[in-house]
Amino acid sequence: MKLAKLGDDPEIFHTLQGEGPGAGMPAVFIRAATCNLHCVWCDSDHTWNFEGTPWPHAKDALPTYGKYRRSEVVIGIDPAAAARRILAFACPRVVITGGEPLLQQAAFLALIRHLRRERPDTFIEVETNATRIPSPGFADAVDQFNASPKLANSGVDEALRLRPAALAWFAASPKAWFKFVVAQAADLTEIQRLRERFGLPAGRILLMPEGRTAADLDRTAPWLAELCRANGFRFCDRLHIRLWGDRRGV
Ligand code: SF4
Repeated sequence: MKLAKLGDDPEIFHTLQGEGPGAGMPAVFIRAATCNLHCVWCDSDHTWNFEGTPWPHAKDALPTYGKYRRSEVVIGIDPAAAARRILAFACPRVVITGGEPLLQQAAFLALIRHLRRERPDTFIEVETNATRIPSPGFADAVDQFNASPKLANSGVDEALRLRPAALAWFAASPKAWFKFVVAQAADLTEIQRLRERFGLPAGRILLMPEGRTAADLDRTAPWLAELCRANGFRFCDRLHIRLWGDRRGV
């Protein structure tokens, strides 16, 4: 499997889940390299914003920011070796994130099988942009999908970020939650349209403020909380940003 690289190691670390229905719970994160989207505000841009690609990013204006050399940010590892690293943390909750993990379903399914062989109670969350349909074996092995369909505020073409068959699959799955990154109040119109079109269950929709600093979140949180209250959605903060900022590996 191809993982993001943290120093000389694969990006596997023990932390608190910062987002979604499992927010606040201790978990081991494992970060897939590569993504099929290129969201302009992505905070895991080291998984896809490689040299030679044309995608813009919100950080382009920073003098210190540049595209990543693929060999410096991507590392290959055998699923069994990745499982051993995860098991060393002795934590029963694992979050497979990215990048887009569903681009490597066979490898992650092998990883889950290695984990459950040693620790049958391992709870598996998968963060996904909901553009790919999980294979039957992968869908069966995963406990919870944190599906995050991207809105126009991502800067990605609609044809790439909204895949009707995949979204319909997640809408029908009792394992799926829907987490939308909200940058402006107008995003709610788009979310409501998706909810109606695909029958997304309102009780499993979470709205999360866009932002890579606590100050960003504080600007958006008050009016977003009010939108959630008025529309019956769940508010979702970004705990890891408040605790550790935009740092990797925590
Ligand atoms: S789908 Fe997720 S990982 Fe991929 S570019 Fe968008 S925010 Fe980043």
